[in-house]
Amino acid sequence: MDRRNLDVTARLRPALRGFEPYDPRFSPVRVNLSANENTHPLPAELAEAARAAVAATPLNRYPDPMANALRDALAVRHGTDRAHVIVGNGGDELLFNLLFAFGGPGRALVTCPPDFAEYANFAAMCETPVVAVPRDAEDFSVDADALLAAAADAALVVLTSPNNPTGDLLDPGLVRRLLAETEALVLVDEAYVEFAGEGKSLAGLVAENPRLIVLRTLSKAFALAGLRVGYLVADPAVVDALGAVRQIYSVDVLAQAVALAFVERRDLIAPVVDDIVSERERLAAGLAGLPGVRTWPSAANFVLARVPNAHRTWERLRDEHSVLVRDFSATPGLENCLRLTVGTREENDVLLDALATLLREEA
Ligand code: PMP
Repeated sequence: MDRRNLDVTARLRPALRGFEPYDPRFSPVRVNLSANENTHPLPAELAEAARAAVAATPLNRYPDPMANALRDALAVRHGTDRAHVIVGNGGDELLFNLLFAFGGPGRALVTCPPDFAEYANFAAMCETPVVAVPRDAEDFSVDADALLAAAADAALVVLTSPNNPTGDLLDPGLVRRLLAETEALVLVDEAYVEFAGEGKSLAGLVAENPRLIVLRTLSKAFALAGLRVGYLVADPAVVDALGAVRQIYSVDVLAQAVALAFVERRDLIAPVVDDIVSERERLAAGLAGLPGVRTWPSAANFVLARVPNAHRTWERLRDEHSVLVRDFSATPGLENCLRLTVGTREENDVLLDALATLLREEA
């Protein structure tokens, strides 16, 4: 028998068939506002702290598997202790591990689309059924009664605050009801919460609510998307469960060292976040002045905009103006929608000028 031509894909675990390598379709462009990164220049003191942390880190030794020094600094940030914090290779790893640990056949995940597409992808990989409770088509609000009904039989509910890509904040009362009226684990994904202003995080409720899990990341406000560091604030039982299933060295020594330096100096990033927030309002006002454009209020570092001929506009922005944004026009509920990351003042002006030109030409 000739074994050289055996079909490998047919041997894949059935739940994994059909998945393709992730391709965010980045193109080399002048202005990249497509991935909700922090595009502002780093304050010099932070950049220097990152360089010093890298220089001081030996590479020949394995990392601390649980990143305890970083856990401690994050715990201080949230007024809790190390036992309530677990660090991962980006929020993505933690999302995957949560589904790996708590999902599986017969243990549903409830989502509220349109939301972060990885929830459903990771659920599918972990053979976890997804029950979708779609958001309102007009204002993207969540139907509380439908959500509570779906959550009654679910293992896990995920809510995003602010939501990606719609930008709206979650009603904390809904989380309290989910915890009081259902038995599900409730994951609140706060990847963008630093842009929502003070007092919007639910991380402080974790101490009294063992089924509440709050996801945070250093990829957005902290400008460390390339470093891959996210974390959960959760009950020690959740932290231990994830500690047991994780890839033991997933957060490398450089990631731990630089993340620690940034978390310890978090006051230095605050003015950058303030500037992004004021730029968001300026971008939204600029968009509101363009013909045929609709936007939704955003508490994050991006704005969702409905524009005429969105896909063509997206393509022309990229090809004729070298501006890359994210095209959501093929996502159910987001017809003709583009998601625009808030950049620097200069980047936002390039985007606004380019959009104004294209919309005039397309009219
Ligand atoms: N949650 C949401 C809502 C996101 O948009 C993202 C990144 N796009 C993440 C989690 C994960 O981010 P990271 O893996 O970079 O921490």
